[in-house]
Amino acid sequence: MLSLFRIDAPRKRETTHLEVSHSGETHRVALKRISGARRFTLRVRSATRDVVLTMPLRSSLAAAREFVERHAAWIGARLNRLPRPVPFEHGAVVPLRGVNHIVLLVPGARGNVSARSGIGMNLEAEHALCVACDSPHVSRRIRDFLRREARGDLELAVKRHTAAIGVAARRVTVRDTVSRWGSCSASGALSFSWRLIFAPAFVLDYLAAHEVAHLVHLNHSPKFWALTQKLSPDTDRAEAWLKTHGASLHRFGSAETD
Ligand SMILES: [Zn+2]
Repeated sequence: MLSLFRIDAPRKRETTHLEVSHSGETHRVALKRISGARRFTLRVRSATRDVVLTMPLRSSLAAAREFVERHAAWIGARLNRLPRPVPFEHGAVVPLRGVNHIVLLVPGARGNVSARSGIGMNLEAEHALCVACDSPHVSRRIRDFLRREARGDLELAVKRHTAAIGVAARRVTVRDTVSRWGSCSASGALSFSWRLIFAPAFVLDYLAAHEVAHLVHLNHSPKFWALTQKLSPDTDRAEAWLKTHGASLHRFGSAETD
């Protein structure tokens, strides 16, 4: 009986999720107790399609359940309004640098993924991402391919922008981030979302310029914006594009698994 000697004997496990059903669909709601929260607040995050209920520390589970059930229709409606996820599978249409590509499983393309153009008139897109049909893990192969493309584009763009103003980035990493498209650490390491590869090229290029400008100004001051504009004349257009379409870049491929 080891637990006899433990001062902090494990407490009863806290419930972290509730399930609520509405119109034949079951939704999972994550519970987050927050000190200082005064009331229940429901949020549906579009990027990840998850539903979160923030609640006061001392509220009862029964009250949380009652609240969630009362808002089940709202949750369902919000989720239904979100763009449908597009898994990487045969026939899926996925943008590459803003240009739609249809995923095709083709015989004998070995393990590699390749982008091809001019593939015929009867498909939804003129361009294709071809993957060998007998290749296992099709989804992961496509994802790895897109991440490599993103990294290549971002490294080139960072190189060009840093050269233009005579600064150096310590390192460029590519990740699957939900809350930010890019970041710059105090030590000069730049990090970007690989999902920028779905956006038109001017958007990725702007993000690279934005983070490179942070190597000089680690803030969003007028001087920072002036430098960003100098590096990327598309700054306003790219910001507007991200505001309108940014969330939809998260629907391609499965959620982060690495
Ligand atoms: Zn910034």
